This record gives sequence, C-alpha cells and structure tokens, in this order.
Amino acid sequence: MYDCIIIGCGPSGMTCALYLKRSGKKVLILERSMPGGQMVITTNVENYPGFSHIDGASLATSMFEQITSIGVEVIFEDVIACDLKGKVKRVKTDKNQYESKCVYIATGATSRLLNVEGEKRLTSKGVSYCATCDGALYKEKVVAVVGGGNTSLEDCLYLSNVAKKIYLIHRRDEFRGDEILVKRIKELEKQEKIELVLNSQVVEVLGDEKVSAIKVFNKITSNTKTLDVDAVFVAIGRTPDTEIFGDLKRDDYGYIVVDENKKTSILGVFCGGDVSNTHLRQIVTACGDGATASLSINEYLAKY
Ligand SMILES: Cc1cc2nc3c(=O)[nH]c(=O)nc-3n(C[C@H](O)[C@H](O)[C@H](O)COP(=O)(O)OP(=O)(O)OC[C@H]3O[C@@H](n4cnc5c(N)ncnc54)[C@H](O)[C@@H]3O)c2cc1C
Repeated sequence: MYDCIIIGCGPSGMTCALYLKRSGKKVLILERSMPGGQMVITTNVENYPGFSHIDGASLATSMFEQITSIGVEVIFEDVIACDLKGKVKRVKTDKNQYESKCVYIATGATSRLLNVEGEKRLTSKGVSYCATCDGALYKEKVVAVVGGGNTSLEDCLYLSNVAKKIYLIHRRDEFRGDEILVKRIKELEKQEKIELVLNSQVVEVLGDEKVSAIKVFNKITSNTKTLDVDAVFVAIGRTPDTEIFGDLKRDDYGYIVVDENKKTSILGVFCGGDVSNTHLRQIVTACGDGATASLSINEYLAKY
C-alpha cells in the first residue's frame, strides 16, 4: 500500500511528490498521458522564477527528471474510478487497481476550444488560451479576445497594458462578467483601446506560420468580416478534469473545493493546482499548492 497516490503528473502533482518523497513517503504518481501536464503544450514560459525564458517541455522534463532521480514511482495509466471514502483509498486505472492511505488530486483543467478552422494548427503560434501567460509576447500588437465572462474581461484589462489594440468578440450583446469589469471595459472602449465586436463568433483563424487574421460572423447582419490580428486569446471557459471524483464537493463550475491547506470535503483526500477552486491557475501556483498539500498530507499520515 502506498502512503499517497498522486493523480496527475503536471507541476502540481510532481511538486507534491518531490516534497513527500523527500520526507520519506512511499509515493505513486498515476498519469494518463505524458509527464508535464499543460506545460508540455506551452512554447514560452517567462513567468516561472529562475528562468527568464524556458519552453514548457524543457521545464516539464527538468521537473520529471528531478522526481524520478530521487525514486518517485510514476505509472502511465488512466485513472477511471476512485473509492475515496474509506480509510484505505482505492484508485482504479484502465489496467490495475492501487491502494493508498491518502490521495492528492492534481488532474488539471482543459481549455474549451472554439473548434474552428485554423485553431489547432495555430495554437502557440498566436492562438492562446492564457493571456497572463502569453500576453507579454504581443507588446504594441493588435489582438483579439473571445468570450463574455469574467475571464475574457480580465484578459482584456490585462492586455490593455500590453497590446496596441484589442478586439473583444462576444456572441451576445451583453457580458456575463462583473459590472465593475464591464465598466472598465467600456472606459477603454471610449479611449479606443478596445473595440467591442458583439453578437459575433469567430469562424476561422487565418495565418501560415502564425496568426495574421480572424474571420468573424455577425449573427444579426449575417455578415462575415476579417480582422487583422497578431493573436487571438480564447477565454470561453475551462473544464476541470473532475468527472471521476463525483463524491467530492465541487463549486458551480465543477472545480474541486479545497481549504487553504488543500484539504477536500473527504478526509485523506487532498487537491491542488488547476483542478481546484483556486484564484490563479499558473505553473508557480500549481507547484505552491503541491508543496502546501504535502505538509497537510504528512500531518494526516502521522495520525493515520
Ligand atoms: C497554452 C498554455 C500556455 C500556458 N502558459 C503558461 C505560462 O507561460 N506560465 C504559467 O505559469 N502557466 C501557464 N499555463 C498554465 C499552466 O500550464 C497550468 O496552470 C499548470 O500546468 C497547472 O498544473 P496542474 O499540475 O494543476 O495541472 P496540469 O498541468 O493540467 O496537469 C494535470 C495532469 O493530470 C493528468 N490527468 C488528468 N486526468 C487524469 C486521469 N484521470 N488519470 C491520470 N492522469 C490524469 C493530465 O494528463 C495532466 O498531465 C499555460 C497553459 C496553457 C494551456
């Protein structure tokens, strides 16, 4: 039996494993894909302390080498069910079943896609799902933000300090975001920093090596126009990977609810990183959550 099973080998899971292994615990990471999580699809990381610039795959490899060099066990299997309520936690994968005294959930989240022509081909070449991560690359450039909730509005406000001009594209004529954010957006519209493109949907992303324009369809007029942009930031929501954790308390958006010590609603089950109801979803915060959780896990194991 393991002391702790960690589900997900992204930055949060790997940091938790690093801390637990260094405190002498028997740890297993289960990962359905490759090590690194979302870092693997990140071309430029410029906000992880210690590196002025590093590509996500290299950072993922460094973290993975660090944990395997100290003996963390990693098995590449997809977790498909969990029995988390009892004192012994049972984790079922597509191939096996494992038992542990506690579990750390670090399964991350997946950005919702526009599902339009050109989007996948130009991802990381101008198509981005994270303005905080990639916004700085578009200093004095023209960019588009897609979405009508708080994330898209916050992305616009963030980008207004970086980009020359922002098109905010929303499929309705009213925003779902907080009033204060909408007010700030309207102020920037008056200053011609932001142009609102309402009742509209992106139908194609154009560009050869990188994004050069987007095609936008207006639902009221049925007209399609082309906007020249250097980047498009998609902020139409994220889906946390939580379907298999039905017993745990989740918020309205499906994120697992944790307290400040990364404890969930079930004793012996801890969670952190993008899958939890955290305020900021970044590599550094995912790592921080993993470290914080390790402390709670050690306290839990001491009393087990
Ligand atoms: C395009 C892009 C660019 C980004 N750029 C930056 C940046 O520049 N700086 C920054 O700080 N952040 C950036 N981020 C955000 C950052 O990558 C995430 O906040 C961070 O990776 C979250 O870490 P995590 O460990 O919580 O989850 P993830 O990185 O999502 O890792 C979760 C892991 O769990 C695995 N998993 C999920 N379900 C299961 C299951 N059932 N069984 C087994 N394994 C499972 C997944 O395969 C994955 O490997 C970017 C994100 C994207 C998408």
